[in-house]
Amino acid sequence: MILQIYNIFAPMNPFTTLSPSQRIAHLDQLQAEHKAMCKKEKALVFSNRPACPFCNQTHVHSVGFRNGINHYRCTSCKKSYSARTGTSFYWIHHRQKFDLYMQDMLTNGHKPLKQMCLKYKISVLTAFDWRHKILAALNCSPKQFKGLIELRNSAYRFSRKGARLSKSSENAPERTSTPVQLLITADYNNNAGINIARIGKLKVSDIEQHLAKRIDQDHVIVSPYSKGIHEFAKTKKLAITTFSERNNPHELDDKKAKELNEKLKLLIIQQTRGVSTKYLDHYSRWAVITYNLLSEQSVKQLKKEIENHNSAWYSYVNIEAIYKQFAVKYSDEDFVQTSHRQWKFANKLKV
Ligand SMILES: [Zn+2]
Repeated sequence: MILQIYNIFAPMNPFTTLSPSQRIAHLDQLQAEHKAMCKKEKALVFSNRPACPFCNQTHVHSVGFRNGINHYRCTSCKKSYSARTGTSFYWIHHRQKFDLYMQDMLTNGHKPLKQMCLKYKISVLTAFDWRHKILAALNCSPKQFKGLIELRNSAYRFSRKGARLSKSSENAPERTSTPVQLLITADYNNNAGINIARIGKLKVSDIEQHLAKRIDQDHVIVSPYSKGIHEFAKTKKLAITTFSERNNPHELDDKKAKELNEKLKLLIIQQTRGVSTKYLDHYSRWAVITYNLLSEQSVKQLKKEIENHNSAWYSYVNIEAIYKQFAVKYSDEDFVQTSHRQWKFANKLKV
């Protein structure tokens, strides 16, 4: 019996044999290790929580569930939110229908709004809002283009479609033939993007703004001849091969960029029969994702991207103000407000 008790305390032996100062040092070491472990665990818990959509703070408290959704409170701005706040799903009452609508949009591409209304039993306005809430969450802007980069400048017609239906219709200016300048870029690493560069005559500074940081000097641009693109490559000391689309003896081509441009043309000229320039950026994103020939895997990735995009709702409800900022800076046309819709929390949620 005595022997058994001795055995229980056996593991303590090394500690009990230490001198008082050694014990203190050992305890200090254990305490430090414990503290580091707790910090690591805490960081892991916080990393699983969505960052605050109001101020991007990642140190947030979980404050329990409401309607089956976990809610959080930000330690910095003290605001409460859930994982849905600010995303495309914010204020969506028919989540199941919305999910099906999103799946439909991403896999089947464009379908007329009226067809979507009948299929999902929703109003035209809801179908329109859902479409743009989803498009606002798509990030179709690669950080870098690499290798052989095809770059094309394409001009589309400026449009104020929908202006006649709004209160400002009496003051809306006449139709204009001002072009909207788009930069269409694609490389052979599955990177593709469309940028709305200017309404009016394209400037070299517009191309620089969108592409200077995304094309490094050891890559090559292939482009149908355009004065702006040529000058951009020259000032940035980028290698460029240009060709004339009419007279092209070496049969140089920008196959991918041209194909992407055709996708966009099909979408905004034939399928939607013209879109307001205000929404052109959204439709460009749609063209990019349909161009990428979506596999089931990439639809899943896109859905995840949409779920995590916590400023999509803000971007959509403030689209008029965002477009105004662009028009003031990069347009030869006057800005005319075409929508007077008010959203209850549009200005509260600043991201
Ligand atoms: Zn916050």
